[in-house]
Order: sequence, then C-alpha cells, then structure tokens
Amino acid sequence: MATPTISAVKYVYSFGGGKAEGNGKMKDTLGGKGAGLAEMTNAGLPVPPGFTIQTEACREFMRGNVSPNLDKEMNAALAQLEALQGQKLGAGDNPLLVSVRSGAKFSMPGMMDTILNLGLNDQSVKALAALTQNPRFAYDSYRRLIQMFGSVVLEIEKKHFEEVFDNKKKQKKAKLDTDLNAAALQEVIEEYKKVVKKFAKIDFPQDAHEQLVMARDAVFQSWQNDRAKHYRRMNNIDDMLGTAVNVQAMVFGNLGETSGTGVGFTRNPANGDKEFYGEFLLNAQGEDVVSGVRTPRHITELKEIMPEVYNELRDITNRMEQHYHDIQDFEFTIQDNKLYMLQTRNGKRTGLAAVKIAIDMVEEGLITTEEAVFRVEPNQLYDFLVPRLDEKSGKAELLTTGLPASPGACVGQIVFTAKEAVEYTHKGKFKSIVLVRGETTPEDIAGMEVAAGILTSRGGMTSHAAVVTRGMGKCCVAGAGELVVDEKKKELRAKGKVFKEGDWISLNGTTGAVFAGQLNTLPASPDDPALVKFMSWADPHRRLKVRANADVPRDAKAAISFGAEGIGLCRTEHMFFAEDRLPFMRAMIMAGNEKDRRLALKKLLPMQRADFVGLFKAMKGYPVTIRTLDPPLHEFLPSREDLLVQIKELELTKPRSPKLKELRVILARVEELHETNPMLGHRGCRLGITYPEITEMQARAIIEAALQLKKQKITVVPEIMIPLTSTIKEMKNQADIVRRVAEEVFAEKKDRVEYLVGTMIELPRAALVADKIAEEAEFFSFGTNDLTQTTFGFSRDDINKFLPEYMKRGIFKQDPFASLDQEGVGQLVQMATERGRKTNPNLKVGICGEHGGEPESVKFCHRIGLSYVSCSPFRVLTARLAAAQAALEEKGNTGGATK
Ligand code: ADP
Ligand code: MG
Ligand code: MG
Repeated sequence: MATPTISAVKYVYSFGGGKAEGNGKMKDTLGGKGAGLAEMTNAGLPVPPGFTIQTEACREFMRGNVSPNLDKEMNAALAQLEALQGQKLGAGDNPLLVSVRSGAKFSMPGMMDTILNLGLNDQSVKALAALTQNPRFAYDSYRRLIQMFGSVVLEIEKKHFEEVFDNKKKQKKAKLDTDLNAAALQEVIEEYKKVVKKFAKIDFPQDAHEQLVMARDAVFQSWQNDRAKHYRRMNNIDDMLGTAVNVQAMVFGNLGETSGTGVGFTRNPANGDKEFYGEFLLNAQGEDVVSGVRTPRHITELKEIMPEVYNELRDITNRMEQHYHDIQDFEFTIQDNKLYMLQTRNGKRTGLAAVKIAIDMVEEGLITTEEAVFRVEPNQLYDFLVPRLDEKSGKAELLTTGLPASPGACVGQIVFTAKEAVEYTHKGKFKSIVLVRGETTPEDIAGMEVAAGILTSRGGMTSHAAVVTRGMGKCCVAGAGELVVDEKKKELRAKGKVFKEGDWISLNGTTGAVFAGQLNTLPASPDDPALVKFMSWADPHRRLKVRANADVPRDAKAAISFGAEGIGLCRTEHMFFAEDRLPFMRAMIMAGNEKDRRLALKKLLPMQRADFVGLFKAMKGYPVTIRTLDPPLHEFLPSREDLLVQIKELELTKPRSPKLKELRVILARVEELHETNPMLGHRGCRLGITYPEITEMQARAIIEAALQLKKQKITVVPEIMIPLTSTIKEMKNQADIVRRVAEEVFAEKKDRVEYLVGTMIELPRAALVADKIAEEAEFFSFGTNDLTQTTFGFSRDDINKFLPEYMKRGIFKQDPFASLDQEGVGQLVQMATERGRKTNPNLKVGICGEHGGEPESVKFCHRIGLSYVSCSPFRVLTARLAAAQAALEEKGNTGGATK
C-alpha cells in the first residue's frame, strides 16, 4: 500500500546575514513580529540574526502532536545561527546568547514576557565577564535570565525574586539597582537558584539547549493563559491562530553609557503630528524603558548624546514608514554606539491621530484616498465627539498611563467615595469632581453620575467602571496599576507623591494618561476640518444612507450635525413620559371605556402634534420615521410595589383619605395589566388594535404636523411605522386606520401631504411572511433588538447571567445584542428583505436596532442591500465610515487594512 504523501511543513524560518527566508507578508505563519524581523532583514536593516518558529508548531503543540521535524529544524537553524555569529549557544569564550520572544499574527501586548540572555549559565557567565571585561554586566544579565526564566517558564511568582533583590539592596545599602556590584549580584544569583529549587522543585537548567526548548514550549503554552484568552475575546482574535516564537541573538543595551535601548513612533500617535516620538534609556536592557523602573529620556536627547546613531535611527524608521506606508512603532537597542532594530509594526493611534495621519499620508503621496478610508477604524471617530485633554495647556506632571476605558477628557478635584461625590455636588463644594477608586461597584453609580470622570487603579476594559462610563459617555481611565488608591486614608499615591481630597487631576480617557494638576480641555470637534476632509473622501463611496434614532429635536439636531440623513426611529412613547403628559397618559390608561379614553387622548393630541412639528423642523426636510406606541401600558403607571407601600402608609395614617381610594383603583388597574412576560405581551401593534383610538390620535398628530409645516414651505414625508407586526392582517388593520385618519385630516384642512405607512420587522414570523406584509407596508425597518431576543428566545436584560460563560467557552464570540448575529438573525433580515422586495421592488428597507451603529453589522447591512441604517446620533459618523468601507470592500479594496 502506498503511503499517502504528506506535504512537508516548514517549521523554522531563519533571518540574518542580510537575507531572510520569510517576509513581511507572512504574518499568518511568522506572526507580526517574525514577519517584521524578516522584512527588516531583507531591507538590509541592522537586525540581530535569528530564526522564527512558525505558528503551525504552536497549533500542533496545542493538539499535543508536535512533529519531530520541529526539533530537527530548530537545531539546524541554531547551528546556522552559531556559524553566522561564530559563537556557540551558552558555550565557549564568546558564548551566543539569545532572546526568546512570542509573536502572534495580531499584536497581543502583555501576553507573554520575553526571555532575554538565554544561554547564560555558571560557565558562560564567566566567559561573558571576561570577554566584556565587565563582570557587573555579565552577572546582572545572568540574574535577569534566572528571574525571567523563573517567572515565565517555571511560573514562580515574581515577588519571590523581588524579595531577594530588595533584601540584597538593603543589606548593601544600595539605592539603585545599578548600585549592586558584581559580587553582590553573584550572591543574588545563588539565592535566586534557591528560589527556583524551592518553588519549581528543579535546579535552574545549566544546559543552554534545555533552556531553549523549555522557553519555546512556555511561549506555546502562554497562548492558552487566561490573560491571552481574555485579550483575544476582547479583540475578536481567533483562538486557533497560535503564536510564533522568535529566537534572536542578543544585543546588549546594558554594556555601559555608550549603550542603551528605546522605543518610538515615526509620528505622534496621540495627535498625529509629524514628529519623531519616543523614549530611551542609556545602559539599560529590554523592558526597562516601559517598565517605569527608571524614567526614560525623550528621544530628541539622543540627538545630543549620539548624533550619528540618532540620524541613522531617523533614517531607518523613515524608510520603514515609506516601505509600510503607515506609521511605525519600533524598538531599538544600541550596543557600543552601534544601532540595532528589534521590532517594527504599524503603530496604534487615537482616532484624532488616525485621521490626521491618513490625510498627511495622502498629501505626501504615500497612500491613496481609498486607502486612507481604511486607516481609521469606524469606532475611533467617536474621539471627535467627546472633549479632549489639551496636554500642552499647562505644566502638569504625567503620573501614569492606565487603560483608555472611556474616551474624552476630564479635569477635576479628587474625591474618594461615591457618597461624598454626591454630597459635595449638592453642597457645591467642588466645581468638578474626579471620582478615584480602587475599582467601582454598582453602589457607586450615583457618585459616578455626578462626577466629571472616573479613575480606578484596578480592573480592565470590561470592568464596572469602564462599562458604565462608556454608557454614560463619561471619561474614564481604569486599571492604572501604578497608582495606590488608599480609600481609608483618602490618599492617592503616585510617583512618590501623595494626593488628597480636593487636589486637581486631569484624565485623558482617549489615551489613558493621568496628570497631576489642572489642564485645559478642548471641546468636542465634530466639525474639525481634518474630519470633514476625511469624511469627504469616505462618503462618496457609500451606498447605504445613515439615519439616526432620535425622539426629541435636540437629538435630531445633533444627529444632523454628525451627518445623519434622516430619522430612522422616533419612539413616541418617550414623549408620553414627560411630566406634563404623564397625567393624561395615565388618565387614558385608567379610562374604563372608549369615550373617556378619547377624552384623554384629545388632551394629548396638541402636545404630540407640537412634538412632531419640532422634530420635522429640526430634520430640515429629511425623512422621519415615527413609530406608533410600542411599550406595554403598565410601564406608564406606578409600580405595584410602590403602590402597595403608599397604600399601606395611608391605611395606617389617613384611612379615609380620597387619595387612598384613588390609589386602590390604580392598583386594581395595575394588577389587571400585569403580565407574566411583558416582552411577549400586550404591546406593539397589539395595543393599537385593541385601542384603535391611540393609533388614530397619533396618525392625526403626525399628519396635522406635516400639513402645518407645508404651510411654512417645509416639505416632510412622514413615515408612520407600526411596531411588532407578525401577520398581514395586523398590518392591514393598522394601515387602514392610519390611511382613514389621513384622509379625514386632508378633507378637514383641504390640503394633502405625502406619507408612507410601513412596519418594523422584529418577530421571526414577520420575516417569514414578509412578502405578504409588503402588500400593505410601504417600508420595512428591522428592529434587531427585539428580533434578536425573539430569534434566540432570550431577553436582552437577562443575557448577562450567562453571556460571560458563553464567551469563555467560545459558544458566542460576541454579544449578539452588540454585533448582529449574521448567521442566524442576519439570515432573517436578508430573507425578509428579499421576500418583501419580491412583492414591492421599491420597498425601502432599513435597520433601527442598536446594531445600526456597529461597524460589522453596518457592513452586513450593506452587503445584503438595505437602503439605510439608523443608529444613535453619536454613532452616525461611525456608521458612515463603516458603510463607505463596506462599499470599497465590495470592489475588492481593503486599503491594506491595518490591525
Ligand atoms: P513585546 O512583544 O512584549 O514587546 P519583545 O519580544 O518585543 O516583547 O521584547 C521586549 C524587549 O526585549 C524589546 O523591546 C527589546 O528591548 C528586548 N529584546 C528582545 N530581543 C532582544 C535581543 N535579541 N537583543 C536585545 N534586546 C532584546
Ligand atoms: Mg516588542
Ligand atoms: Mg421593538
């Protein structure tokens, strides 16, 4: 029997000596870092040589069937590297040392710590000391290796090493790490080895090859750690991709004052300015720059200290930017005045910077306007709609950078508890409050509401503080771990300073920066010229129209200023909750017969008409979709619990009061209206069918308002939308009422206007019979919130009980209420659109659920040919950009999308 041919996998790709086996396009195989190292090598840049173990090896590792070829290829690549360097790994007079670095397709910061100086052992450390004539450097490198290897590979808690180190510093009366001399470091090393033995139950491996294999496998393993899994969930990265491992010859930034290490950007990633941006440290290694142990120096100082190296760095990074056509985020090390590049990638940037850079790069001829459209992620445009921190407006010290949990800016005085935040606001004690907490809990809500912004020292991008503030549109910096929030002592400690209640701080929620002192804020800038120009490149590609969900003129005006082309959903019920309306609304609900109901509705009519006049005026002739009353009536009455409490109280104090009698009548009605499952109850068109006079009143108010504006020469074409239909007969019932009332009004006023009657599709049955419904409905609007609830059969308000578990287990990749479930709910949307248009080819079809402002859902709506999406005003810009990208993607243009 012939053995099947197995296509051989190449596991290891070398780079060095001016050429690489891989290249920059191979991110799937080599990971982002590996592809970047290969590309830089091929471009002739000074990159320490090495090799990349590809992602397939990691996938095999996860499946538990690693091919024996992996070790073979790795050993061959190592031999080749040794030959190139004229060194042996961890052996001889001039030992080869390497770094072992993880690197997945998408950068995943903090997934796994890099291991530096691998190959050092009791022998090679002596050789290194002799070779460099710098024993302090050699022993410092060795103790760093044991520490990193111990924590990353052997999973020993870092604090055990830190304890040893700190004790040694005390014992030697050393202030700085660098004050420990070679002898002291040798003592540290001996104690580190004991830590390893104690906690990992093995000796620190002296065999360099063994170190390498263990480190490689630890990188593979790290793909599965909780931190990495969490990051992937947050960023929608596929769990099956795996990570590559880069093994690279060490270069030393810690050889003395002619060596150093640094990181930088080719442009300013916060505001997009074309300036060289970065930091460095002399005599330092690896993560020293970003770890905050020592304060790094601004990159421009390098110009003074090492002008040649500085010029070379600028030249190289410029070339990289020209090569990749995008802003670069790079890492470098200088060993004895010689520059080495260790990493480059497309830089992450704020929305403001993204727009500025896209425009500059078009003007520099680096990219086309089509490519520019993809250089900004649709959600980033939100940055233009919130206030910004003017970091140049004063001398304020940067305390730390936490997580940019909710964008915007805030400047205020520190308060440590939610209770005091509320109290001080009432008393007017502070003008503006920043609530500073370890982390927030639901009890803090009232304090969060009065605060200008929130700062927490713990918790991530999905922490309570982050989620709640984003909902409130309020600035938040979360998880600023370098800060100590001492709620008992009411102190905020940072950078050796102590801040008390009332001290001023400034937060940048867009970048996560926290400053001591009082900076200025710049207002939101939806009409920023750069944004306007950028959108003028995007909009012409767009086929989808973008509307907004707005109930009141103020929101409608905001929506127009963000570029909305109509209102896709005006919820009339919000108009009835207003204080001056609620009594009439309640009277209507309490009415025992149609006559009384009509009486109450008559009082509501002029108010409702005035609402529509205001809204139509604000919309300046754009289409406005108005939904007839939707929620169950009990929502307009007091809750049963409140009533019972009030009744009990009156029974005890004023048993004869007429108020008591009234409350009892209301209670009876509330109990009558009570539903076991209101979401599936007496609501939507079911209300308009049982109480036709409600639909009549609303139709009259809308048509009368339109006629009134026609007199003022303002054209409006109202679109009257019937909610929650599931059968053609329901639709016909309500459409008949609307059309009859419209004719009545036309006859009364001896004038006519155009209008449409359509429906909201939010039940699977409606989607199934959409062809029939389209016989009556002149437009469809998908209410995808309810459609998602009714398709899955779970409630949006209860999904949080199980969603986290579903995400963790990979059952859901996303919250289906945040991003449209294209596979299921999306199919209903697509099918209903097709069926509806079979009946009426001109059927206008839109979507008005939360999904209308979520980029992936918007793109889906484009692909299935909807006419428009409608979203909250603050997401209009995002939807416009997503719609433009979708149209370009359809033509095969992705602008070399960056991620
Ligand atoms: P991360 O993905 O967390 O940035 P890296 O693999 O880029 O991790 O490594 C972190 C740092 O370690 C780099 O910025 C660099 O300073 C240092 N480093 C990595 N490899 C080497 C090397 N071969 N020589 C010197 N320094 C290195
Ligand atoms: Mg890096
Ligand atoms: Mg609904």
